[in-house]
Amino acid sequence: MHDPERAARQSLIDHCRAMNASGLSLNKSGNASIRWSEGLLITPSGRSYDHLLPEDIVFLHADGHCPPGQLIPSSEWRFHVDILHAFPAMNAVVHVHSTHATALACVGAEIPAFHYMVAVAGGDRIPCAQYATFGTQELSASILHALRGGLRACLMANHGQVSIGANLSEAYALAEEVENLARQYLLARSLGPTRDLPAEEMAVVLEKFKSYGQQRQME
Ligand code: 13P
Ligand code: ZN
Repeated sequence: MHDPERAARQSLIDHCRAMNASGLSLNKSGNASIRWSEGLLITPSGRSYDHLLPEDIVFLHADGHCPPGQLIPSSEWRFHVDILHAFPAMNAVVHVHSTHATALACVGAEIPAFHYMVAVAGGDRIPCAQYATFGTQELSASILHALRGGLRACLMANHGQVSIGANLSEAYALAEEVENLARQYLLARSLGPTRDLPAEEMAVVLEKFKSYGQQRQME
């Protein structure tokens, strides 16, 4: 295995361990993938992240075909494959059962524009994908439907959330943002109805986000 591939595999393991340590996902729940070579690298199914080794990460061809001699890939490989196919500019997918995002998803709620940071996922709301059994093509279709229009995150009814990014750190950071927004939304809702921002204001924020955080070049 080449060094860059070993480093990519280790990075998946490190992010999954961080997911456990931060409480973003407990035990074996959740999974992650990155685009690699002519396919993707994905976490194996049902394995604790504590003892994973780089060679335990599974390589899949872009069409989902799994070369033999590897561990079984995440049961959610279908939506990882389909998302990376549908979003050519995105290179990483993170799926977690984070507590507050999952609580909202369990009542089928989406996150509306209650806070301007909702635009971090690329739209004026973070939708909730319709329920389908874990690991099915139906679940993948439901997630892709929720992400239409180029959204980079959605909740998954009775399940959790999925976030995507140009790289793994970006996808992971978005999953953290979605969880934080879900928590803030639940707290705000406990005080009364939220005062959601109008579509025109969210359009302004989305425009500002295109350049936000990008440093001006040194003179
Ligand atoms: P895997 O261990 O198969 O990745 O499943 C975890 C999960 O979150 C299923 O939705
Ligand atoms: Zn899951």
